[in-house]
Amino acid sequence: MSTIRRTKILATLGPATDAPGMLTRLLEEGVDVVRLNLSHGTADDHRRRAAALREAAAAIGREVGVLADLQGPKIRIERFAAGAAELAVGQPFTLDCRADAPPGDASRVGVSYLGLPGDVHAGDVLLLDDGLIALDVVEVAPPEVRCRVRFGGRLSDRKGLNRQGGGLSVAALSDKDRADIRLAAQLDADFLAVSFVRSAADLEEARALLRAAGGHAALVAKIERAEAIDALGEIIDAADAVMVARGDLGVEIGDAELPGLQKKIIRESLARNRAVITATQMLQSMVEAPIPTRAEVLDVANAVIDGTDAVMLSQESASGRHPDKAVAAMRRICLGAERQFEPTEDLSQVAAQLDRTDQAIAMAAMFLAGRVGARAIVALTESGATAQWLSRYRSAVPIYALSRSDPARRRMLLLRDVVPVRFDPGEVDPAHVARSAVQHLFALGALGEGDRVILTHGDHTGRLGGTNTLKLLRVGPDGIAESLRDL
Ligand code: PGA
Ligand code: MN
Repeated sequence: MSTIRRTKILATLGPATDAPGMLTRLLEEGVDVVRLNLSHGTADDHRRRAAALREAAAAIGREVGVLADLQGPKIRIERFAAGAAELAVGQPFTLDCRADAPPGDASRVGVSYLGLPGDVHAGDVLLLDDGLIALDVVEVAPPEVRCRVRFGGRLSDRKGLNRQGGGLSVAALSDKDRADIRLAAQLDADFLAVSFVRSAADLEEARALLRAAGGHAALVAKIERAEAIDALGEIIDAADAVMVARGDLGVEIGDAELPGLQKKIIRESLARNRAVITATQMLQSMVEAPIPTRAEVLDVANAVIDGTDAVMLSQESASGRHPDKAVAAMRRICLGAERQFEPTEDLSQVAAQLDRTDQAIAMAAMFLAGRVGARAIVALTESGATAQWLSRYRSAVPIYALSRSDPARRRMLLLRDVVPVRFDPGEVDPAHVARSAVQHLFALGALGEGDRVILTHGDHTGRLGGTNTLKLLRVGPDGIAESLRDL
């Protein structure tokens, strides 16, 4: 039996994954969830890619999740008359915050956010193009923000603008985001990522719009603003999953803070029963090169050791030269890091407080798993809630999550250690659901004779949130579960 990879892999789709056969290769190399980056491309591009992906997955009998990622209110400069301008150090440069600002040149350019003069002050540092260019604000004279170039270089159309330290108070959802939320519902996305979240209220607003549009996606809060760090607990609680969005976060808070924050966001997400994705520049050199740098290998491995549920590819897969090799590298590095990972010993550290029965059963299962030599945990779960609780405790045992719900299984594709398996308890003898579940996994080759298993379920299998039972079993001949009397 080959080793199960525990960490999940996300890959962003784009022009590079449109190549013939590429989606199939990405799935075969191990992609669990794809990201449609709504910052780029048209609605039709995303529809076409989602359809092609699902077709490729169905053809090879694989399940795959779809994450739609909103652009969010990223502040951008407008266009230059010549498409770009060369900014020289020490020169004055003006941000023109009028709706009808003319095309820019080396001395000035328009800005997509007209409220900028109200949010910045003399002495602030504004960062353009992910920090490659920096401006010192000299004077705010609405509708202009007058700056001096601190770090210069070539600046092209529509580059992003951040303030060092954060705090530009743009609403979380733009008009484009509202339209894209409807698109995500039409695409039947499994996850909706909300960019530049500042508070729990931003997520509530996105969720209300999504539900009104008929969407069922789980919400992913992208942590990429300085303010989100101050409200981290409430944001994680309001989301279904979290993304360490290192690209924009690094620009706002400074790259030196990133390693500590990544660890903190992962730790907090696990403790609050949320899945967590680590994203951006993980294998950046593979946009060009066929192999990663050693530093990138270490970065992916360290995210795994930090406890992340999933690692993500952005440009590497969307527009890089080797999308399939990047996924293969992710898989290889995750497997290597998982061999080094030390399972959590003291479970009480992970979730200090027990509030729910399914959570208590999950904790008990994880407590026992290592002590009774369990080969696997089998969770009969309708919504996936029990699997999520189980997977918040980092252990050495795989969790087979049996559910009849297609959307629930796709959402579980984000959870570390969880292997979602299609199983309909309504189709088996109600008196022997546990036995049928074990037999099903035996038939799939996931369990073998003599394996010890911990199985969790509810009184009424098939009902939401009902897990209240834990069984210790042994797999007998022909996959028939036997009770385990002596440990
Ligand atoms: P993006 O988000 O790729 O949509 O910018 C991720 C990040 O900022 O790291
Ligand atoms: Mn971002």
